[in-house]
Amino acid sequence: MVDVKKLFDLTNQVALITGGASGLGYYYTQALVEAGADVCIVSRSTKGWATTRDYVSAHGRRVEFIQQDITAAGTADKIVDQCVKVYGKLDILVNNAGIQIRNNLLDFEDADWLKVIDTNLNALYFLAHEAARVMVPRHAGKIINIGSMQSFRAGKYIYPYAASKHGVIGLTKAYADALAPEGIQVNVLAPGYINTEMTQPLQKDPIRNQEILAHIPAAHWADPTELKGAIVFLASAASNYVTGATIPVDGGYLLR
Ligand code: NDP
Repeated sequence: MVDVKKLFDLTNQVALITGGASGLGYYYTQALVEAGADVCIVSRSTKGWATTRDYVSAHGRRVEFIQQDITAAGTADKIVDQCVKVYGKLDILVNNAGIQIRNNLLDFEDADWLKVIDTNLNALYFLAHEAARVMVPRHAGKIINIGSMQSFRAGKYIYPYAASKHGVIGLTKAYADALAPEGIQVNVLAPGYINTEMTQPLQKDPIRNQEILAHIPAAHWADPTELKGAIVFLASAASNYVTGATIPVDGGYLLR
């Protein structure tokens, strides 16, 4: 008999979440902690750390902060090693940290292209690789890469962002295929239009807001808490036979 509640239980699991103290990452941290996980959080600044620390300790879990730029050379093994040193293992990686730069196609600076690809794709690859290194000997693990609706679309004005998010799906499939025999699942969570600080300008522009809402069958911007179920599903034993998949949490946006 399968105990369904136990399938979603993350007690004694250790999750590493890049950008997990602010933006959408903070909601992933909340969800994983509420499901029972201890967490390692990586970001460049200390934004959100105090709030995150209080949230995690109020739930009786542990948090380790690692202040690192994930694009710095050789940083992925340092981050994974620090997490393993503190907790003795790593069960779940959430590759969430990401950036977006907007510009007209012909005005895009090479440096901006590289910066976005470095953050959203190269760093994600290095961290997935280092996580796999410690997960393979234990024949268990979950790698969740954060995609976007731009994993599927042309990404007007945000060309490197769209390219990087398409790449996230390709990398996820390759890793999922290679790691499935090791008992490790690799999936993409692709959020749609979420009500965050970053998306306020779009929501406040009446024309853009109307265009976006016209494409969302659910007819509203998601509250970030609407991502919590999907992250726990992908991080838990409930998804043990799901790998190489992309789960859109988009109110049906991709249907239109
Ligand atoms: P935010 O800008 O709000 O948060 C990004 C987080 O990543 C911050 O905690 C930031 O911390 C961290 N971060 C960024 N760059 C680095 C770096 N080089 N090294 C370490 N940490 C870094 O973004 P969102 O929460 O909106 O987005 C999170 C993810 O979700 C991204 O991958 C994004 O593409 C994706 N997404 C977002 C959507 C939305 O509606 N917001 C929709 C679809 C996908 P710090 O600055 O301190 O380093």
